[in-house]
Amino acid sequence: MKYIPEPFKIKMVEPIRLTTAQERREKIAAANYNNFGLHADDVYIDLLTDSGTNAMSNAQWSAMLTGDEAYSGGRSYYDLIGVAQEIFGYEWIQPVHQGRAAEKVLFPVLIGRPGQVVISNTFFDTTRAHVALANGRPIDCVCPEGLDSGLDAPFKGNMDNARLETLIAEHGDEVAGIVVTITNNSVGGQPVSMANMRETARIAAAHGIPLVIDAARFAENAYFIKAREAEFADATIAEIIREFFSYGDIFTMSAKKDAITNMGGLLGVREEGEHVPDVRSLVIAGEGYVTYGGLSGRDLAALAVGLREGMDEDYLRYRTGQVAYLAARLDEFGIPYQRPAGGHAVFVDAGKLLPHLPWHQYPGHALAVELYIEAGVRTCDIGSYLMDRDPATGQEQQAPLEFTRLAIPRRVYTQAHLDVIAEALGAIKERAGSVPGYEITWEPKVLRHFTATLRPLS
Ligand SMILES: *Cc1c(COP(=O)(O)O)cnc(C)c1O
Repeated sequence: MKYIPEPFKIKMVEPIRLTTAQERREKIAAANYNNFGLHADDVYIDLLTDSGTNAMSNAQWSAMLTGDEAYSGGRSYYDLIGVAQEIFGYEWIQPVHQGRAAEKVLFPVLIGRPGQVVISNTFFDTTRAHVALANGRPIDCVCPEGLDSGLDAPFKGNMDNARLETLIAEHGDEVAGIVVTITNNSVGGQPVSMANMRETARIAAAHGIPLVIDAARFAENAYFIKAREAEFADATIAEIIREFFSYGDIFTMSAKKDAITNMGGLLGVREEGEHVPDVRSLVIAGEGYVTYGGLSGRDLAALAVGLREGMDEDYLRYRTGQVAYLAARLDEFGIPYQRPAGGHAVFVDAGKLLPHLPWHQYPGHALAVELYIEAGVRTCDIGSYLMDRDPATGQEQQAPLEFTRLAIPRRVYTQAHLDVIAEALGAIKERAGSVPGYEITWEPKVLRHFTATLRPLS
């Protein structure tokens, strides 16, 4: 497969250091076999996440110098609100310090009674946690194709709308909200089609249920709609985004993804209604005054520029092309992954690559540790290790698939770096049978994968 050349040149570099395998064995043991515990200086290629790890442009850096640091009513705030209102068509836009901050102020307001359910095409881990912390019950409802990693389908992130109707019939008035995550991160950065979103919106409206877009990768999703949904072949990215958001009532967004910043988030409400005053009070109590929302003025300025840069079609072709190139290299080595490659990451199917490891020995995590030892490449588990215990029973929960996620930071790594990653996975495949499983030696109650400690099983 042809590598799509970068539509930019490099003006500033940051050295990275390759360690020896023996050093890495010591480092990962000292980090209690939790990749989040490693020092980044001991990592050669960091694919832990594409969140906040983006390289900003010269235009973003220069905008930062013009940031207005006024406590209230700053120019950078009004600039950002203007840009976001134009892109998304929503009346009320609130900056927050990152995506989970938007979730934290929204779900306690949306979930009126304890035990109400919120249904999503698949919750991202922080979104799931904030529904639970607000005493709601998160239910995943992805289309069946999304859970078949070997199947090539264009919109594997879609909501299973037939099952959504069944769930609504079952739970009646107890459905507090529906969340459409774009792209569907947890099933592999897979997109949601416009046709699917229209149907979800029709169902939500028919039952008077608020429809929330979890919009971290709104631009990559729009690019896939343009590339794969015939009706939109000639539409601009801006037109696709505008239409998609017109079907939602509210959006939460981590701006650390497609808005190409290092920190930031947004909350949007299409028609400023009953919920806004309550949400605003939580913002002021937790994030800071509404016109900065936990960010510096310079962060607001970089975000306003990044929102538009992230929608550039040449950039999106390169961006999704880079991920597709890595996937094509994995094909050469026969490494199984969620097909087709997602927008921001390749999700290696560690359950298939390491069939000797049962789910409760965390194959996705085991492969992540092995990849670090092999080549200094840091990744993370998106599988049963990531799943918190069932809050009601305290039991371990099996994820539908055991993935190791290779998340690609935006505008950071080159074609040669991607080759290093593919070759390292090829080498691990040769000795797959000797990769050990893991057990948890300590874990917190929620979001355990960030801080849990583990040990390899012999
Ligand atoms: C990253 C992410 C979030 C949370 O955003 P943060 O900025 O990390 O707090 C929520 N939803 C999705 C789909 C994400 O990818």
